[in-house]
Amino acid sequence: MIEVTTFADQPVAVFGLGASGLVTAHALAAGGAKVIAADDTRARVMEAWDAGLPTGDLRVADLSSFAALVLAPGIPLTHPEPHWSVVKAMAARVPVIGDIELFDRERRARLPALRFGAVTGTNGKSTTTALTGHILKVLGERVQVGGNIGRPVLDLDGGAGVAVVECSSYQIDLAPTMAPDVGCHLNLSPDHIDRHGTFRNYAAVKERLVSASRQVVIGVGDPHSAAIADRMEAAGKPIRRIGVFDTVEAAASLGRAGVAAVGETLYTVVDGQPQAIGSLAGIGALRGRHNGENAAAAIAMAIAFGHAGLDAAAALATFPGLAHRMEEVASRDGVLYVNDSKATNAQSARQALSSFTRIHWIAGGVPKAGGIDGLTDLFPRLEAAYLIGEAAKDFAKTLEGHTPRAMFGSLTEALDAAAEAADAGDVVLLSPACASFDQYRSFEARGDEFRALVTQRLAATNDNARETD
Ligand code: ADP
Repeated sequence: MIEVTTFADQPVAVFGLGASGLVTAHALAAGGAKVIAADDTRARVMEAWDAGLPTGDLRVADLSSFAALVLAPGIPLTHPEPHWSVVKAMAARVPVIGDIELFDRERRARLPALRFGAVTGTNGKSTTTALTGHILKVLGERVQVGGNIGRPVLDLDGGAGVAVVECSSYQIDLAPTMAPDVGCHLNLSPDHIDRHGTFRNYAAVKERLVSASRQVVIGVGDPHSAAIADRMEAAGKPIRRIGVFDTVEAAASLGRAGVAAVGETLYTVVDGQPQAIGSLAGIGALRGRHNGENAAAAIAMAIAFGHAGLDAAAALATFPGLAHRMEEVASRDGVLYVNDSKATNAQSARQALSSFTRIHWIAGGVPKAGGIDGLTDLFPRLEAAYLIGEAAKDFAKTLEGHTPRAMFGSLTEALDAAAEAADAGDVVLLSPACASFDQYRSFEARGDEFRALVTQRLAATNDNARETD
């Protein structure tokens, strides 16, 4: 844990006592702040109390003497409307900040040997964060990975090395003075508008991360991000552009400095000259065009931290991948089982569907607007679809005339049917294009169940095989 000393002896309110809120409250208390931990849920307040934290009811507290309100990133700062604690803090002119702000203030105040790489974007944040951490580790750095990816940033230790931190737009919103050594912005598409009001606000928040960074890595695959890159360059920032291209000639457009993926080959680009540095071929955890973007970004991050592109690219081969994102669960009799439970919308499922052919597709859950209408160009890749959850009926209608499809009451039944039907060379892919909440607590729970079911099923077929031997 990083003790937060920058608020020593000052009263600080911490609102939102999930995993990161609890760590934040502990970190502040350990650094000498006079913490009051609060939450709308009584059980959470009790948990904080049991953990030895001073708790209180901010509704009745006079906030005017507080140095800050530290808000958990899940709590609305502005949209759809500010949480009552935010309204109260604003009225009392108390700054509202988050744990990444505390982390970076502390780092700047007393941890100069801890370098800070921050990653944001609409898609690919976790993969790029984990991959950057992996590459830097292989290259001998002392690396810690945290932030939105799971481990709260104040749970890292303050030792020398590199902290690679995934930042959601919510977290950037709560970090007004953050100044990463290297900031990476991957891409931008309309998402999370509910939380930021308009696309413009959302884009502005994402841009703030890179404009606050000393060095910048930026994807140019969409016009909004490409425009941010141009603004950063015009402002004189050291910038590396990254992107995925169909030809090497096109990759030259990355300009002065960049990293490109062209098919499975990776290039550094210096002064418009692409030079091959490595390949993604055969790396199961980095299949698909989107992972070309993530790999290029992670390599550019490693270069920004002082490493050679060639060395960074060589480290890709040992990346184990992240759970629930095109995770290869098992392979049996030539059939590959893939858990892509994180694909909670059609756009994410598109990445997985375009990474395989001969797919037995398990999909469904709580659909997003538009369902899978936008995926019809990928239906020729399907052998069959196995549909579950609230979306099953609608998805069946969209798939009509394209591929055999059937509806199932549970993931177990869908998997059984898919596994029975699959032949050597086929892929059984869970990539639901839906949220999980009709049948599961989270996409993680859904993916964990899929993995367990596949493992059980293969173990059972092993036993049967033994019995019939
Ligand atoms: P995030 O942390 O931003 O949600 P992840 O790395 O967890 O992103 O990936 C989540 C899903 O988003 C993946 O399963 C994939 O479908 C899709 N995805 C990953 N990287 C990209 C990318 N660079 N561009 C578009 N989609 C991506």
